[in-house]
Amino acid sequence: MSVGNPGDATGRVASTPQAAGSRSQVVLLMGPPGAGKGTQASRLAESHGLTKLSTGDMLRAHVRDGTELGKRAKSLMDEGVLVPDDLIIDMVRAELEKSSPVRVLLDGFPRTTAQAEALDALLTELGAPIEAVVVLSVDSDELIRRLLGRARAEGRSDDNEDTIRTRMQVYQEQTRPLLEYYKAAGRLHRVDGVGSEAEVSARIDEILRGRA
Ligand code: AMP
Repeated sequence: MSVGNPGDATGRVASTPQAAGSRSQVVLLMGPPGAGKGTQASRLAESHGLTKLSTGDMLRAHVRDGTELGKRAKSLMDEGVLVPDDLIIDMVRAELEKSSPVRVLLDGFPRTTAQAEALDALLTELGAPIEAVVVLSVDSDELIRRLLGRARAEGRSDDNEDTIRTRMQVYQEQTRPLLEYYKAAGRLHRVDGVGSEAEVSARIDEILRGRA
């Protein structure tokens, strides 16, 4: 999601040093397109001293910079379908390996079972387990209304009606099944994503409080 601070050319938004703790902390923010993940991810990263890693922002930076990855990703992103797992996993691995301790808020990753499994393996290697998976719930009429509004406001090339429909379908088919995976692992927390930014943020804070 591009709402909020898009970060630097790597899609990272650095946390403030004062807020950064010294132990690993990995939080996943999930939800359908338009649920407000980008906005909330930026807020939470800042307030919890985490680095926001948004695969969507990272890919958009590659497209802007005209890298090989950007060239391969652009048409897929414009269609609203997913970029191949191996490209995404390599991109995330490179970022996570730079962080020590690993204090990250992942936005828009993982989106497939293969990505979730790769993330587990990588985090085991780095000794930084997933602490919480927060899912923003918003009904589909509200999601479409928000995405069309964002299309007008930001002119994102993947926010037109056809692409929105495809992205919703991709979410249902490829990403939603991951919620069961994290539920079974006892990590899943559902949050009502309707309300002001501050209200939704307070609901997420309540979940993360006591775990930080
Ligand atoms: P987002 O900003 O998270 O909605 O991502 C925008 C687009 O980037 C998606 O529709 C995908 O084409 C691509 N993308 C972002 N994250 C991923 C991911 N984890 N796996 C595959 N494709 C992704």
